[in-house]
Amino acid sequence: MKLHLQEIEYFPANVTVEAGSCSFELDIEGVCSVSSVKANLSVQNSDDEYFCQGTVEATLTLECVRCLGQFEKDVAEGTDFIICSQQTFEEKRKEADDDEEYVFYIGHSLTADLTDIVREALILSVSLMPICSEECLGLCASCGVNRNETQCDCTDDIIDERWEGLRRLSEEE
Ligand SMILES: [Zn+2]
Ligand SMILES: [Zn+2]
Repeated sequence: MKLHLQEIEYFPANVTVEAGSCSFELDIEGVCSVSSVKANLSVQNSDDEYFCQGTVEATLTLECVRCLGQFEKDVAEGTDFIICSQQTFEEKRKEADDDEEYVFYIGHSLTADLTDIVREALILSVSLMPICSEECLGLCASCGVNRNETQCDCTDDIIDERWEGLRRLSEEE
């Protein structure tokens, strides 16, 4: 996911960088796939430093923690970072006690690879306990059916197996 700073004619500029065919693996449990990744950035420049601010957007396919079904969710997360050359960073920024994030550009086209910074934003956008809907009924604890799709006859009481054994004995008498 690359931003070619050389192609920007005027600053401040609003640019959109799309992931295109780059595939994103987030390696987070519950995230099945990531698509339509893009970064909408406002870029301001001062000498060799490019200040970028904006949002990262994507469509995530997530696994619901209640029913284990997959569902899609559009997410957007803020991002904020500085692009400069590694040399500028060493000379001007290395000692600075800031908590800015830096991306180094390379080559004459001033190409910055935004993949890592975009991935970081997407990781923040993933909720810990994704659910497909607030109303999701989840799986039945007794028979395992998806209660959004099938209504089973199980009661909500989980029957203790030992009592179940006793009950069967007394029924046989
Ligand atoms: Zn669900
Ligand atoms: Zn059931």
